[in-house]
Order: sequence, then C-alpha cells, then structure tokens
Amino acid sequence: MPTFVRTDKCDGCKGQDKTACMYICPHNLMKLDKDGSETGHAMKSFNQEPEQCWECYSCIKICPQQAIEARPYADIVPLGGSVQPLRGTDSIMWTIKFRNGTMKRFKFPIRTTPEGSIDCYGGKPAADITKIGSSGFFNHNEQKGYRDGNPAELICK
Ligand code: SF4
Ligand code: SF4
Repeated sequence: MPTFVRTDKCDGCKGQDKTACMYICPHNLMKLDKDGSETGHAMKSFNQEPEQCWECYSCIKICPQQAIEARPYADIVPLGGSVQPLRGTDSIMWTIKFRNGTMKRFKFPIRTTPEGSIDCYGGKPAADITKIGSSGFFNHNEQKGYRDGNPAELICK
C-alpha cells in the first residue's frame, strides 16, 4: 500500500534539488512539487505513482521530518493503526499504534559496524562495468565458477 506525505511536516528538504525521499526511492516515485502546480502544496513532496509503491519503507525511514507514512496492508495493521520507524545511526525505533489507542515501541539494532566503514568488495576485485551484459557474478572466476547441484544438500527432499 502506498506512502503518503504529511504536508504539515514536509519541508521539501529545504529546497534541495533532490530531496531525501527522491534520492532513496528504488522506484523513483517521490517527487517535489516545487510550485504547487501538481498537488496544491508548494515545496512538498508526494508519491507520484502510488500504485507502483511496494511499501519498502525506505522513504519513510530516511525522511528527516518524519513526514512520510504508509497505509499498511489491512491484514497486518487494521484501519486506524500505524507503523512508524525512526531511524538512528545504529538502531531503529518502531512505534506501533493500535486502533484502540495502545502504543508500543520496539528498538532494534540495524548494524554492527560504524556508518561508512563497510568495505563493499571485501577484498574482491571491483566490479567491471563492461561485463554488465554477461551472465554470472562479478566474482565468478574468483569463486572458480559454478558447480553442479548436489541433491544431498537439499533441505527439503
Ligand atoms: S524527505 Fe521528507 S521532508 Fe524531505 S521532501 Fe521528502 S517528505 Fe519532505
Ligand atoms: S515506500 Fe519505497 S517504493 Fe514506496 S515511495 Fe517509499 S521508497 Fe518508494
């Protein structure tokens, strides 16, 4: 179910060319309505194709103003309830509101290493973009290629 922007909270990421929600959406759905001609709300972002939103929560987590919410599926969050994350540098706080007014919060760690410390290739060679059309993984040769499957390794037989 799609996200929606709370216009009372969104500040348009202070007029930046690319807002945080536009930057993070894997489906390029978020758009800043600079002059208000599309939504009637100038300098507020909106989900321009709600039917394409797969509720990945990325925009919700990155929004510095906590301005984006999702309409969750009714089977996990009944009408009137909400599920809202607040992302920190090493943890994320989920606030669950039930429709009877009960509120619960859960805090979970989201990483075990400092931000920015990840070694993307982990000692492996960098990906070669000229091979983007080839099949196989970028470290295919380092892994000595593929091997035949072994039915004995199947979990379900
Ligand atoms: S990230 Fe949040 S504050 Fe920034 S434009 Fe998007 S909805 Fe508005
Ligand atoms: S929930 Fe995910 S797919 Fe939907 S608008 Fe936000 S970032 Fe894009």
